[in-house]
Amino acid sequence: MKKSAMPDENGYFGEYGGQIIPPQLVEIMNQINDAYEEIIKLDSFQQELAELHADYIGRPSPVYFARRLTEQQGGARIFLKREDLNHTGAHKINHCVGEALLAKYMGKTKVLAETGAGQHGVALATACALVGIDCEIHMGEIDIAKEHPNVTKMKILGCKLVPVSRGTRTLKDAVDSAFEAFLEDPVNFFYAIGSVVGPHPFPKMVRDFQSIVGREAREQFLSKENRLPDVAIACVGGGSNAMGLFTAFLDDESVKLIGVEPAGKGLDTPDHAATLTLGSKGSLHGFECYNLQDQQGNPLPVYSIASGLDYPAVGPQHCHLKDIKRVNYETIDDAECLDAFMKLSRLEGIIPALESAHAVAYAMKLAKTMTAEQTILVNLSGRGDKDADFVADYLEL
Ligand SMILES: *Cc1c(COP(=O)(O)O)cnc(C)c1O
Repeated sequence: MKKSAMPDENGYFGEYGGQIIPPQLVEIMNQINDAYEEIIKLDSFQQELAELHADYIGRPSPVYFARRLTEQQGGARIFLKREDLNHTGAHKINHCVGEALLAKYMGKTKVLAETGAGQHGVALATACALVGIDCEIHMGEIDIAKEHPNVTKMKILGCKLVPVSRGTRTLKDAVDSAFEAFLEDPVNFFYAIGSVVGPHPFPKMVRDFQSIVGREAREQFLSKENRLPDVAIACVGGGSNAMGLFTAFLDDESVKLIGVEPAGKGLDTPDHAATLTLGSKGSLHGFECYNLQDQQGNPLPVYSIASGLDYPAVGPQHCHLKDIKRVNYETIDDAECLDAFMKLSRLEGIIPALESAHAVAYAMKLAKTMTAEQTILVNLSGRGDKDADFVADYLEL
């Protein structure tokens, strides 16, 4: 079987994924899967999605040769897939537009989700405004206090923001709160997951909606360079931008694929989120995957300087790709991330998201070990406007 032909009909990528949920939910998820499989075959859906890609998101995003960064590093030439140039400034809009459009085609009345730092919330509220469907975002009170610009944007975009005051008052409890609200009317509501995680069919759907990134990049790279890149690199939180890039290259055995996880303050401290590197097999949020968990199987607190990467689980396809050794997973710590953030800003005039700076940092390290004839393609998943104040304070600029 081709590596790209996954998951199986039960939503498994090897031993990972599936539907680790109560029986009544299995039926709901299977209905979403059946509707999805039918709707994506419709010409009208594909045409509407293609138009939104081009005229709304601004696709295709360019593949850019980072000349000065390459010169400074020495070694392999580094190229960036510019997802930071999308409307709303990151790759998340790709699957949010897909999910909102799908909800509309399914005749749903409302789209629900949780958000942590607010990036998924803003992208989803944007997509819901675009297709004209109600949107309800659950967010922990602590996160609401911390993430003012995103909270303001969600309000302006017209979504209903539900503050979550229970438990940790952060993402973990926002997930439970949003899911309970979804269960009040699963026939008319649509739950929009923010990465390639959750029960089947979400890892597949979100991957499919993100795979435009790799399809474009592969074609763009071939027409620029007349060959494929030697290495393709992306950061991994839940894993959506990485699956978006990797999917088009999975069957190109010559292309080495590398996912970069956050080592935070160090892999020998508790302050990291290197799930594939240090996690063990378990289940969380409705699917089987590698987890950072304690002896009892409870998720451990995780940390990254990039809030989009601090998740104690990871998408099931990444777990499988690690086991079959098709993708290597490496780590970058906070200091290396900040160094890449500043270098890309000052050498190229591109301020990257702290998440994306993890991928850039690993590419910089790797390039030096390669020859000038070789090439690296990095998914620049988002722009760093959201991180600029934090970094300036942190580095006392
Ligand atoms: C949310 C986010 C990520 C992490 O999510 P994935 O699902 O792992 O892609 C990475 N980069 C940016 C810019 C983000 O906003």
